[in-house]
Amino acid sequence: MRASLPLLALLAVVAWPGLARANGVTAHAHMTDLAIEELPPGELRDLMTDPTMRDAYRTGSVFPDSGYAAGDAYGEIAHWEAFTQSYLDWMAAEHPPPYETDDERRLVAFLLGQASHGMADQVFDSLFMSRALAFDGDVSSLDEDEEYWLVVEHEPGIAPLVIWAPYDDLPDVFAAEREGHRPEITTIEFGLRRIGGVLDLLQASARAPYARTWSESPWAASSYYVEATPGSLPFIAPIIARYWQVLWDRLHGTDSLERSVIGRFPDDGADNHEVDPRRPESRVMIVFGHGLDAMTLTRENVVLETMDGVAVSANPRFIYGAPFANAVLVDPEETLAYDTRYRVTIGTGVRDLEGRALPAPVVSTFRTRCAADRLGDCPALPDPWTEPSGPPAGDAGPRADAGPTLDATDAVDAASSLAPDAGAPSTSPSGCGCHAPSAARGARWLWVIVSLALVLARRR
Ligand SMILES: [Zn+2]
Repeated sequence: MRASLPLLALLAVVAWPGLARANGVTAHAHMTDLAIEELPPGELRDLMTDPTMRDAYRTGSVFPDSGYAAGDAYGEIAHWEAFTQSYLDWMAAEHPPPYETDDERRLVAFLLGQASHGMADQVFDSLFMSRALAFDGDVSSLDEDEEYWLVVEHEPGIAPLVIWAPYDDLPDVFAAEREGHRPEITTIEFGLRRIGGVLDLLQASARAPYARTWSESPWAASSYYVEATPGSLPFIAPIIARYWQVLWDRLHGTDSLERSVIGRFPDDGADNHEVDPRRPESRVMIVFGHGLDAMTLTRENVVLETMDGVAVSANPRFIYGAPFANAVLVDPEETLAYDTRYRVTIGTGVRDLEGRALPAPVVSTFRTRCAADRLGDCPALPDPWTEPSGPPAGDAGPRADAGPTLDATDAVDAASSLAPDAGAPSTSPSGCGCHAPSAARGARWLWVIVSLALVLARRR
């Protein structure tokens, strides 16, 4: 539909400052399910595969977005490590290990759900969303669209959500966090009930907008569930599983910053890294299982250089300018040389949010791709993405008229000044990411309800 006034008004009321878009709530709960499969045998896996823990970790997995749904600041706060640390501090004081009773094990499961959500958003936004913008030209409704694709294609079985949250203690955990915000218990209850409603609606109605949204964002739709695509759901799941193992150690006081690295892009020693700094693929990401202090991510402490020690101008940062986060991004600011080995070093000047310095530098190396006329000198490049003819699930219908297909190269160039995580493209007055479904008119009302619900649950 053309953006209706009520919808725009709602959007204006509930939009979160600095809001960008990442995963939807179904995707978050599903990534937690995928991450459980990645856990090695042991106490942690035993806890997370215990069916009586499911309501707690599932509620935790959608919990951060419930704050957006309630229009309360706790939603943004609950996305980040400072909240995770506050929860860990509360656990250490009130519920130290071992975790033997079901009640205490649920407290752990809820924490791991919350942590899954925050980590998934950081990695998805760092690696996937920028490429979606480059290929598809618009990420303003990516979070919602991904929910439709996931529900239709993978039937994740998340709804109905049975809510379990440590309501009585959450206000104190928030109050002890660095921002000192204390939400009301009733506000948190309201937000979680609303998220439960969104999950139900998505489950019931994802087919109506499925084909249209798939055709409007063919790169994202055909990539979000491909493990080899950086930032996809199955790419993120093992990072979450490794994060949980660090958090388990943090709960038990046996953690070490020396064993904190839980994910890298590219893999250490990888070939064929992108040389063009305007392309998001040129980024380097190193993810830690501890929250690091953004103030220590200086150009002295985080260095990109050739193996011969020739420094490259590069910007170390967290997405959204977060003060404490896990995924360190290093953006080259100049074109890298072809077929050259580089290393990124995160030095011992970098500290975690408790002030502890990295005990040893973390180093990651990669080799850039070869020039077009020297491709034989490098391992074969992956095949370029080609637009699929249509969505894999039935009832695709004709492609919505989204205008000419973007040429990927042009799109990357056009998007180079539009890093979505440096301030998401604002919703256009005539757009709001809410296009008319090409489905039958009868389904439209349902779609409108879902859209309204999603707008209310507007999330990062
Ligand atoms: Zn979120």
